[in-house]
Amino acid sequence: MRGIIAAVVLLAASAGAVVGIAASSGGNPNARLDQVASSFANHPIRVRCRTSAVDPTFESAWGYVNTPVDQQTEAFIQQAACLGAAAIADDDPAQSDFMKAIGAAVLVHESFHLSRQPGVNSESITECRAFLHYDVVLLRLGASPEVVSRLMPLMIIIHYRLTTRTEWLSHHGGILGGLFGGTPSYYRPTCGMPDRYYPYTGRRQP
Ligand SMILES: [Zn+2]
Repeated sequence: MRGIIAAVVLLAASAGAVVGIAASSGGNPNARLDQVASSFANHPIRVRCRTSAVDPTFESAWGYVNTPVDQQTEAFIQQAACLGAAAIADDDPAQSDFMKAIGAAVLVHESFHLSRQPGVNSESITECRAFLHYDVVLLRLGASPEVVSRLMPLMIIIHYRLTTRTEWLSHHGGILGGLFGGTPSYYRPTCGMPDRYYPYTGRRQP
């Protein structure tokens, strides 16, 4: 049985049928996603976009990579998240800001799992690395400064929601802990918010 490092747990039920990116004409529709993932992993990565109908893993995760991570060259990402990430460059209004934010957050998270540096098996280290590059991944996906300013608050919320949720489960156990037994903790106490993010939160720097 293959090992999987689940990336970002589903925050909401995904939309039903989604038109594949592959429906667009010409070239490799995932070329930009591949390119961005490779830039964070520091070696060539292929991004595989799939629906939960094809890959049931996506009933409970937005993305994953197989293990051992240091031998992998593919990131698997839920189709809706791929569509969101791919829509950032043109700021396509057909895709929601939520899916654009999820797509960018998942893409950078999975890419760091594949980056072959110390800690790539750790969810908390990987998620922290991703969090510290949220603005970078948006720019590499082709976001304009306006789109960065619009999506960053959502991505920051997504990060804190992910990290605090699993931390709560790991501490409180019980029925939920049983259901999610083995859910890795994404919480890293030392993972502070970069100063440059404060303008996106409406708060002054401390
Ligand atoms: Zn992960």
